[in-house]
Amino acid sequence: QSDRLVLHYQPKVNAQTHAVIGMEALARWPHAVRGMVSPDDFIPMAERTGLINLLTAWVLQSALRQTSAWSTAGKNFSIAINLFTRYLQHEDIAAEIQELVHCNNLPPAQVTLEITEGAVMVNPKRAYAILGKLRAFGIRIAIDDFGTGHSSLAYLKQLPADQLKIDKSFVMDIKDKGNAAIVRSTIELAHHLGLEVTAEGVEDKEALQDLKTLGCDVAQGYYIGRPMPAAQIDAWCASWAAHTGGR
Ligand code: C2E
Ligand code: CA
Ligand code: CA
Repeated sequence: QSDRLVLHYQPKVNAQTHAVIGMEALARWPHAVRGMVSPDDFIPMAERTGLINLLTAWVLQSALRQTSAWSTAGKNFSIAINLFTRYLQHEDIAAEIQELVHCNNLPPAQVTLEITEGAVMVNPKRAYAILGKLRAFGIRIAIDDFGTGHSSLAYLKQLPADQLKIDKSFVMDIKDKGNAAIVRSTIELAHHLGLEVTAEGVEDKEALQDLKTLGCDVAQGYYIGRPMPAAQIDAWCASWAAHTGGR
């Protein structure tokens, strides 16, 4: 039983008002002997063995069902789900995802799919077509780990996306002048292109304050909340409200 894959949820908040916006679903593999195995270790393995499609389908199902349960309980969280590189190659995933969102009674705009630049680069034409279909249905697309890939600005302009997530490596060390400059220019560029910006890896109060000043839209990181089981989200919401209410 304890060897099953589970999902943890990490909060995302409005960087300006600190209101809770939603959650990102992150897979966890509790292993009897090895303890909690990181997705960075088991995901490449799943990709090699072809289990990846099963895993993705399970993550989508579970996260959407949980989000639907939160909505029923009066918590209209948006949900962000990470999509594997290879998953974006199947022609029919747009229809499958649409069906899942529909079955869980969720407004498509409440669902964000996070993809990396690399996922699109494998077969840009096909990826654009799939992302186009998902967006036409109303699902949001976020470019994850932005700044770590090799994409050109011309490519960014064409990307069918709604949001950019600035990679945590720049945000965690935003005190560094170079990183601060990267974060600042990325926010400006994204806004000029009509994209919303999320900063991940917010580890302290100062970083959150800096991001607010720079006009960042959404913040996520250990200072706000670590990834946690769904059962802990209510308690986290209460403590975050108490924490921000006191400012
Ligand atoms: P990611 O999508 O970039 O997820 C963010 C990672 O940064 C998570 O690691 C999260 O725990 C960590 N993180 C969040 N806030 C902070 C912070 O303030 N400081 C630091 N140092 N780290 C922070 P995690 O959960 O180990 O996930 C690693 C990667 O595994 C994810 O990176 C994502 O690419 C992948 N992954 C996880 N779950 C799934 C999934 O269900 N599907 C897919 N396709 N990939 C997943
Ligand atoms: Ca992500
Ligand atoms: Ca990321």
